[in-house]
Amino acid sequence: MTESSPVRTTKPRQVRPRAEGWTQRVDAEGKPLLQFAAPKKGMPPVHLADLTPAQRVEKAVELGLPGFRAKQLEKHYFQHYTSDPAKMTDLPASGRDDLVAGLLPHLLTEVRRLQTDSGDTIKFLWKLHDGALVESVLMRYPGRITLCVSSQAGCGMNCPFCATGQAGLTRNMSAAEIIEQVVRANAAIRAGELGPAEHPDERVTNIVFMGMGEPLANYNRVIQAVRTMVDKEHGLGMSARGVTVSTVGLVPAIDKLAGEGIPVTFALSLHAPDDHLRDEMIPINSRWKVDEALDAAYRYFEKTGRRVSIEYALIKDMNDHAWRADLLATKLNERGHGWVHVNPIPLNPTPGSVWTASEKPVQREFVRRLNEAGIPTTLRDTRGKEIDGACGQLVATEEDREVASAVPVD
Ligand code: SF4
Repeated sequence: MTESSPVRTTKPRQVRPRAEGWTQRVDAEGKPLLQFAAPKKGMPPVHLADLTPAQRVEKAVELGLPGFRAKQLEKHYFQHYTSDPAKMTDLPASGRDDLVAGLLPHLLTEVRRLQTDSGDTIKFLWKLHDGALVESVLMRYPGRITLCVSSQAGCGMNCPFCATGQAGLTRNMSAAEIIEQVVRANAAIRAGELGPAEHPDERVTNIVFMGMGEPLANYNRVIQAVRTMVDKEHGLGMSARGVTVSTVGLVPAIDKLAGEGIPVTFALSLHAPDDHLRDEMIPINSRWKVDEALDAAYRYFEKTGRRVSIEYALIKDMNDHAWRADLLATKLNERGHGWVHVNPIPLNPTPGSVWTASEKPVQREFVRRLNEAGIPTTLRDTRGKEIDGACGQLVATEEDREVASAVPVD
């Protein structure tokens, strides 16, 4: 009888999340600080896109002009993408400048633009009227054009992997500042700046709220912006399905969103199926746990009939283990079938960092396990990484700040 060789049990390597190159702010108990309340200072002047159609009419009357002038301004802004009174020759010269100044105040100054060599992706750096910096990324794909918009200057959610959250929350963006990112992107497309057009009326078809900020922490303004995006008569007339609102898991706001009656696509940035890891990766998990966030996502599906997306950045040896794919599949299947889609997002390789890309075979295995368990799963495109324009990487660099300080706000 031969002596049996010892069974080797190698525990999968577990890398723990941690902030690198900066110190995560913590509360009195040493937990990562969450900042919900935004400073009130710095909000921009009220703009047409902040107002309901009835309020726009009232404002025109207040400025001494007939109410129907508001409708004309809507057309210039939402269809011709202009705030320039010189181009609004259908408005009487007398009072035109006052009307435009009163309803279309200047909101975003372009500080810098980075474009990929292929020309199909542009990252804009914008300076707001109070000097805060935000970004948006415009991406052309066959048959669609997607804009990733910011909803807050900075972010209060303090995720250790995210460049945006490092400086905390500067302030909420107004609804009009969110809409203006779309209008300016449409103007750039119309001017041919995103490469050759597929057809003459090309414009942004898809919006993802995955730029700076946690959209559901700026709930009312984000909803006003979404309503304006989808309003066919008084707004941009986009399809609600083309608008994706994402969150790290603000549960009461997810339920509120489900009750709005706007069938936007909802995305939950989960990144870990177990509380042990997610508590460290996504500090809001200390408030609402994985199961609570998934329950809310499921309720969103039940109420709207819209299939939910789960975003999952695959990070080497941190959250990419086979058992985590299985646990995620189990948790999703426990709640029902056909209600969810998983988007694993491969990170860029960052040698020496704990936040680095999963190996390709590990990525494939993660996706395979979920698909095999009946959960539709597709690795997401990481367009924009080339210019640091991917989610969680949107932060103005020191160099941007220097350029911005030299650019006057017009
Ligand atoms: S990942 Fe999103 S929620 Fe977290 S800090 Fe960054 S912008 Fe905020």
